[in-house]
Amino acid sequence: MSATTQITLRTAVVLPFVMIFIITIGVIVTVQKHSYEEMVVDISDKQLSALTANVTLELNRFLNEPFQASLALSHSISFNRLYQRGDTSDIERYFLTSFRSLYDSIPQLDVIGYGGEGAEYIGFRKEPNKAYTLMVQDDRTEQQLVIYRGQTISQDIRSVINGYDPRIRPWYAPVAKSLTPMWSSIYTNADERQEITLSALTPVFYDQDFQGVVVTDVKIDTFNLFLKDQQLQTNAVIYLVDDKKRLVAHSTNGTVISWGTPFSKKGERLLATESANPIVKANAKYSQANGLYSQDGFQRFALEINNQRYFNHLTPYVDEHGLKWYIGVAISESDLLGKLPESQRDSWIIGIIASLIGIALGLFAFNRVVAPITSTASAAKHLAKGDWESTMPQPGNIYETTMLVYAFNEMANNLKASFRALRSQLLYDSLTKLYSREGLIDSCDKLPALNGSLMLVGIKKFRDINDSLGHYKGDQLLINISQRLHSIYSEDHYLARIGGDEFAIYTSKKQTEQDLVLAANRIHQVFASPFIMGQDNVVISVSIGVVESGPDFNMTLWLRNGSIALSNAKRELSNISFYRPEMADISRKRTLMVAKIKDAIEHKEFVPFYQPLIDLSSGEVIGAEALARWLSPSSGLISPLEFIPIAEESGLIEAVGEQILLQACNDTVRGIRAGKWNSDFHMHVNVSVNQLSQPDFISTLQKILTQSTLNPTNLTLEITESRIVDNDPVTLQNMQAIRDLGVHIAIDDFGTGYSSLAYLHKLPFDCIKIDRTFVDKLSPQELDTSIVAAIINMTRGMKVTLVAEGIETSEQAQMLTQLNCQQGQGFLYSRPVPFDEWPTDLVNMK
Ligand code: C2E
Ligand code: CA
Ligand code: CA
Repeated sequence: MSATTQITLRTAVVLPFVMIFIITIGVIVTVQKHSYEEMVVDISDKQLSALTANVTLELNRFLNEPFQASLALSHSISFNRLYQRGDTSDIERYFLTSFRSLYDSIPQLDVIGYGGEGAEYIGFRKEPNKAYTLMVQDDRTEQQLVIYRGQTISQDIRSVINGYDPRIRPWYAPVAKSLTPMWSSIYTNADERQEITLSALTPVFYDQDFQGVVVTDVKIDTFNLFLKDQQLQTNAVIYLVDDKKRLVAHSTNGTVISWGTPFSKKGERLLATESANPIVKANAKYSQANGLYSQDGFQRFALEINNQRYFNHLTPYVDEHGLKWYIGVAISESDLLGKLPESQRDSWIIGIIASLIGIALGLFAFNRVVAPITSTASAAKHLAKGDWESTMPQPGNIYETTMLVYAFNEMANNLKASFRALRSQLLYDSLTKLYSREGLIDSCDKLPALNGSLMLVGIKKFRDINDSLGHYKGDQLLINISQRLHSIYSEDHYLARIGGDEFAIYTSKKQTEQDLVLAANRIHQVFASPFIMGQDNVVISVSIGVVESGPDFNMTLWLRNGSIALSNAKRELSNISFYRPEMADISRKRTLMVAKIKDAIEHKEFVPFYQPLIDLSSGEVIGAEALARWLSPSSGLISPLEFIPIAEESGLIEAVGEQILLQACNDTVRGIRAGKWNSDFHMHVNVSVNQLSQPDFISTLQKILTQSTLNPTNLTLEITESRIVDNDPVTLQNMQAIRDLGVHIAIDDFGTGYSSLAYLHKLPFDCIKIDRTFVDKLSPQELDTSIVAAIINMTRGMKVTLVAEGIETSEQAQMLTQLNCQQGQGFLYSRPVPFDEWPTDLVNMK
C-alpha cells in the first residue's frame, strides 16, 4: 500500500455531506441571527418610540392643562382687575367658582393661588373627598397667612403663619423678574404629604403694570399612575428625569424621594442612578457614562441586565416654558418578543434533530449499499494473507456491487481451486502418489505428538541405474519401489518420497530399537527380489537411516536427522544406521569442512608430497607416489585422510584431484629435465573412483598431459580396488581409455576389496599395489603361505608390476625380495616429502 493517507469509502462519501450540512446550518444560523437582530432592533425601536410618543403626548396634556389654567386665571384677574391692594376677596370668589370645574377636569391640579405685589396671598388647596382648603393673607387677616379648614373665611382655622411674604418665595421672584409665564423648578412639598410638585407661574399685569403671580401646583406623583398603567400594558419600564438627572416620575414601585444618600439629602428626589429599580439604575448609569443626555434627539442602546437583554430609549422632553426633562423607556427582549426566541430555538432544535435523523438514515442506507464492497475488501485482504477459509462477501441490492461481489467470488473460487491444486502438487509426489517431503512435514506436524519413528530409505546407485535404464524406466522403477513399500505398510504409516531416490516412512507407533532393526530387515527383504523392467532385471539395494525420537511439531528436524543417519549408513557401507546426536555434530563439522575445502581449492592450497618407489632387487629409485597434502595457512599441514573422504562425498574431489595430478605431472617433467629423475621415472598419482566415473575425465587427463608435456608412459594412475569392483560402465570405459593413452593403471590397496580376485581379469591394469596390512603380517616362518605370496603367485602369468606398500623395516624388504616382489615403498626408504626436499641420497639403497 502506498504511503498516502487512506480513508474509508464511507468517510469519503459521508464527510462531504456532513460538511455541507454543517456549513449550511452555519450559514442559516448566521443569516437568521442577523435578521433576528435586525428584527429585534426594529421592533424594539417601534415599540419604544411608540411608548415614548405616548408618554410625551400624555405629559404634554398633563402639564399643559394646568399651565393653560394658570394662564386663564391670570388673564381673568388682569382683565377684570380682580386684585386690589390689601384685598383678595374678588380673586377668592373667582377662584372658588373656577376651581370646581378646574379640579374636575384637571385632577393633577393641587393648588391654585395668587401672590400680589402688596404681599397678599390667596389660594385654594384640594383636599381628599373633594373639599378645599382656603388660604388667605390680606388686610382681612391682618397680613397673616391663615389656613382655614373650609373653603370660606370662618373661625375654623387650621393654622396661622406669621411673617409670610409671597414676594420672596421661589415661585414668585423669578416671574416678577422675567415677567413671563414659566415653570417653577420641581420641589417636594414641605407639608406632611411630601408631594413632588411643579408649579405653573403666570404674571398678572394691569396694563403693563406687574401686579402679582398666579401659581397652579401640579402633583407630578399622579403621573406615576399613568406610567404604571403603560407598564402594565407593555411591560416596559418608563421613567422621567429632570435636567439634574433626578427622577421625576417612574412606572416602577417605590418613591423617588430620598431617605438620605451620599448624593441626595433626605426629602430630596433621588438621582436616577440611585433608583431602586435595577433597570432604571442601569439605564441611568449607561446614559450618564456615555453622555447620552447631551445628545439631541432620542438615543437607543441595549443593555444586559439580570441575564436579560434590554432595549432602551432615552428621549429629551422640552416645552416652551423651559422644561428640560428626559423620558427613559426600557423593555426586555422576552417582553418584546414574547415566546418568539424560544419557539425559534425550538424550531432550530427540531430542524437539527430532523437533519441528524436524515443523516443517520442516509448512513444506514449507505452502509447497506457499501456493505458488499467492504466485505469484499476484507475478504480480499484475508485471501491475500492466505486465509482461504474466510467467509465470502454477500451480494447486496445494488446492481454494480452485486456484479463486483459475483466477480470477486468467482475469482476467489478460481484462486482457491488453483491454490488447492498447487498445494496437492506440493504435498504429493506426482510420480508415486506418495507424500512429498512437504506433504510429510505438513501431515506429521499436524499430529498431536511425534513419538513414533522415522525411517529414511536411500536407493544405492540409483543414478547409475537411472542412467542405464533411461528415465522412463527409471520412473517406472520408482513407482514399483513405492508399490512394494506400500505393500508392507498399513494405513497408520506415512509414506513419502522425499528426494529422487529417497523414501521416508513415519510410524506413529512407539518401537524399540529391536523392532526397528526387524523393520529395516523387512525392507531389505522386500527389495531382495529383482524388479522386472521389460527385458531388464534390476536388482537394487538400499541404505536405511532411522530416527527414534525428536521434537514435536518439527518433522523437518526429524527428516534432517534421518538424512544424517542415512548418509552415515551410506558412508559406512552399512545397511542401517540409527541417528545419534553426535552424528549431527560430525555432519556439521563436515559441512564446515566442505566450505573450507572449497576455499582451499580456490586458493590452490593442495600440493603433492612425493614418496619414492624402490626397485627392491637393485635398491634404485624408479618412481614416486604423489600424495595429496593440504597446506592450510590457518591449520598447517592436513592429512588426506581428513579431507579426501569429504571431498569425495561432496563432489569436490574432482577439483582437488585435478590440482594434484597437474602438479605431479609438472613436477615429473621438471624432475626429469633437471636430471633429478630418470627419463623412465614412474609417477604414481591417486585417482578417486568418483573422478574416474566422470565422463569428461579422459579429456581432463589429456589436457593435463598436453599442458605439462609429460610422456604418458611416465604416469601411473592408482585406483583403489575396493572402489572399482562394480559394474559401472563409465569407469571401465575410462580405465580402458587411460591405457589407450599410454598411461598405466595401478590397482591400489590390493587385497582389501570384498570382490573376488576372479573379477580381476576384467580390469585393464599394469600394476598391483599390495596393501600394507599384508606387508605388516609378513613373518619369515609363514612366508610361503602369506597372502603376499598368494598374490605374487596369482599374477605370475600376467604382465603386471607388483609394488609392496608400507615397508618399514629392512626385514620386510628382505622378505619381499625373497618372494620376488619387484618394487616397494615405505617409511624405510622415505616418508612423503615435498618436491624440493626430494632426497638425493636414495640411490642404491640396497
Ligand atoms: P594410499 O594411496 O594407500 O597411500 C599410501 C599411504 O600410506 C600414504 O598415506 C602414505 O603416507 C602411507 N605410507 C607410506 N609408507 C608407509 C609406511 O612405511 N608405513 C605406514 N604406516 N604408512 C605408510 P597418506 O599420504 O596419508 O595417504 C592416505 C591415503 O589418501 C592414500 O592411501 C590415498 O588413498 C589417499 N590419497 C592421498 N593422496 C591422494 C590423491 O591425490 N588423490 C586421491 N584420490 N587419494 C589420495
Ligand atoms: Ca596410493
Ligand atoms: Ca595404498
